[in-house]
Amino acid sequence: MNKYNGIVSDLEYVQFHPTSLYLPNEARFLLTEALRGEGAILRDASGRAFARDYHPNGELAPRDIVARAVFMESQKGADDDVHNAYLDISHRDSEWLKDRFPSIHAHLKSRTNPMDFTQEKIPVIPAAHYTCGGVTTDLNGCVIASNGEWYGNLYAAGEAARTGLHGGNRLASTSLLEGLVYGASVGEMVAGVVSDGTDDKALENRERVMETMHQARYAIEQRLALEQSTSAGSTVSSTSAVDEGMRKEATAILTNLKSIMWDNVGVVRTPSKLALAVSELSAMRDEADQLWNNSSSSGGCGGAGWEVVALRDAAHAGLAVAESALANRVSGGAHYVVLEEIESENNNGNGGGSKSDSDDEEPLHAVI
Ligand SMILES: Cc1cc2nc3c(=O)[nH]c(=O)nc-3n(C[C@H](O)[C@H](O)[C@H](O)COP(=O)(O)OP(=O)(O)OC[C@H]3O[C@@H](n4cnc5c(N)ncnc54)[C@H](O)[C@@H]3O)c2cc1C
Repeated sequence: MNKYNGIVSDLEYVQFHPTSLYLPNEARFLLTEALRGEGAILRDASGRAFARDYHPNGELAPRDIVARAVFMESQKGADDDVHNAYLDISHRDSEWLKDRFPSIHAHLKSRTNPMDFTQEKIPVIPAAHYTCGGVTTDLNGCVIASNGEWYGNLYAAGEAARTGLHGGNRLASTSLLEGLVYGASVGEMVAGVVSDGTDDKALENRERVMETMHQARYAIEQRLALEQSTSAGSTVSSTSAVDEGMRKEATAILTNLKSIMWDNVGVVRTPSKLALAVSELSAMRDEADQLWNNSSSSGGCGGAGWEVVALRDAAHAGLAVAESALANRVSGGAHYVVLEEIESENNNGNGGGSKSDSDDEEPLHAVI
């Protein structure tokens, strides 16, 4: 058992949406994959269609391959500050497109500098979209420890859970189903545990589940109470100089953290970049914990602001993803790692640490 008690697995399988709108200093906006289904073409800055360079099915290849293609192409102009990946559906009928994709049309038109996706190609970049891994569960949503046993009346459903449903590559548009199907399974399981049987074991199970549910309920009530008191302004003033300093510091670290994740734990990974990320994220996690502890002593998260909470959660989660990715050197689906540095070390006679895609000893599932 380690710091996550061995109940978290496959966090390295982060699905990237292939086409989010790329406009510097603007929030990302997902350009639905249905666009490619309707014939949108991926082009570079010169207008050349590039998707078939990566897969015979071109734009309709598996989404991890399309995401990598977009990422690789986007990097090609980076040295000259030229964006090099675009989505182009301007060959389809303009009115039909507006009717078929009204929210995309509205979003692009609402910009200060409006864009028209029916007439021009749109700059794109992949964006982190879904975590296939998470808290390991069985089909009933029971959390399973690395020894295969149920982890003390703990349940999980939704994106937080690692059900194995997706393998290493997320299936499209499953979130509603996951919430409903696994949510219902958890509900049925808990109801069954609570009502089944009259023997000592059943009684013991029932008491443990009831106790866990009471604890969860208490935690939620505490959180709601905190939110209410914060919004009513009854906690420490969030505008005090100390709090403002913490918020700014948390925001700055979070911005840096996002860059580290994108640069080193993104669509295409290498062992050396992952190791760098783990090192830097460990330091950030410590800073985040320190800020959190300081803010707790000065009035809880309401005192220091949600920036501190967001940073704490992002630092722990980011580090866990980076550690999982570093532990798994086999590319598969949403986890893609390039081992060329190690190969070149070997070619230089450095030896040791030799890894390859066919190395049987490499784990396909990182459990942390
Ligand atoms: C931009 C974007 C577009 C997407 N589009 C699609 C799509 O088209 N189709 C699709 O299937 N999926 C899509 N997804 C993925 C999908 O949105 C998520 O997988 C899904 O919303 C996860 O639902 P959830 O209920 O498991 O988790 P969440 O929606 O994350 O809900 C978790 C809830 O728990 C609360 N919470 C967190 N911590 C605590 C705590 N300590 N105490 C109490 N409460 C807490 C959070 O505030 C949140 O309300 C998209 C994701 C993104 C980012």
